[in-house]
Amino acid sequence: MPDTDRSERRELIILRLIHSGVNSSRLELARQAGLSPASITTIVQRLMMKGLVVESEPARSNLGRRPVPLQIRSNAAYVIGVDIGSFYLRIVVTDINGNIVYKHQTQTEMQEGRTRVLDTTFHCVHEAIKQSGLPPAAIRGIGIAHSGVIDSDAGLVLSYPRPGIMAEWKNIPLRDIFQDEFKVPCLLEDSVRATAIAEKCFGLGRDLSDFLYVDVGMGIGAGIFLEGKIYRGAGGSAGEFGHITVDENGQLCSCGNHGCLETVASCAAVIQTVRTAMEQGIDSKIRDLAAGDLARVSIEIIAQAAAENDSLAFRVLQKAASYIAIGLADLVNLLNPRVMIFGGALFRAVPQLLEDPLRRIIKQRSLEKSANEVQLKISPLSGEAGALGASRLIAERILNDLYIG
Ligand SMILES: [Zn+2]
Repeated sequence: MPDTDRSERRELIILRLIHSGVNSSRLELARQAGLSPASITTIVQRLMMKGLVVESEPARSNLGRRPVPLQIRSNAAYVIGVDIGSFYLRIVVTDINGNIVYKHQTQTEMQEGRTRVLDTTFHCVHEAIKQSGLPPAAIRGIGIAHSGVIDSDAGLVLSYPRPGIMAEWKNIPLRDIFQDEFKVPCLLEDSVRATAIAEKCFGLGRDLSDFLYVDVGMGIGAGIFLEGKIYRGAGGSAGEFGHITVDENGQLCSCGNHGCLETVASCAAVIQTVRTAMEQGIDSKIRDLAAGDLARVSIEIIAQAAAENDSLAFRVLQKAASYIAIGLADLVNLLNPRVMIFGGALFRAVPQLLEDPLRRIIKQRSLEKSANEVQLKISPLSGEAGALGASRLIAERILNDLYIG
């Protein structure tokens, strides 16, 4: 390999380490890259001359000189993250380091069909660029998160098994559709995996190399981090926790199987169970909270009713969380994770489910040693985590383009 190629490769490696690290110092980079401090100093010097890396404010200390932390120059590039969720469409504009400069949320209105959803999405993204106040050329890439079965290498939504709209989202080249519209590099990722990436980079996963992220929203999924990297499996679909069978004679799932966890414990399932019970005449505070309109029942309303000791709301939430806990007990036995982090609408609305039934059932059903070792935590990230994770993935992808200039 010619010397220039080798030094460029090293510079790119260091650039990626600085991007992934939390204020890396030269000393720390030398340790991580296995290079001498002198080589690191030279490499960092070149990256600084290229305008890609800056010294961030050194920590003030009376204890003498501290290593100076480095970071990618925040305004070196901006990216966009788009999360096309079943309920909400969320958009963030961030700098290369993931600091949000603009965000927007609206309803996806999936039932309107794909063409309308994409029209709305494009309009909102164009508007986000305008509202961010950045020159359009500063936006160097777009990361897109979508649920369903995603082939991220090919940029395809293979299927989106939701009743009524399945045919609309079969084999859709969503990445290329975005690229045609916005003329910048784009990337497509499954929305739970994108959310898990956000947890790793900006949430409780920052300092953890191994953890399990579990997301319970309209669907259920997980992200498995092993040795600092998300585990993707043979075909990229690892983590489909929502489709483990919890009741072999149960309801038909959107995936075609019967009795998946998602059919009994997702927010969609919880809301449906509540609606059915109320249609059958069961009395509940939820009716008042939803102003008598069953279509307005949401997970937040059910959580509020449960907090006011409504027995239907309490029972339905406990039942859903018990199913999740039974599935998790198996995962605890299988993976022996040290930390499990919970995100998504269900745990944002009812974080106390973590203690009971989750912790209780995991203790009952997993091997004692593994159950004692696992810590359960609630993600501090809000609803835009999926969009933030998608923006992070595209930021990592475009580092190469930035380096080449
Ligand atoms: Zn399923």
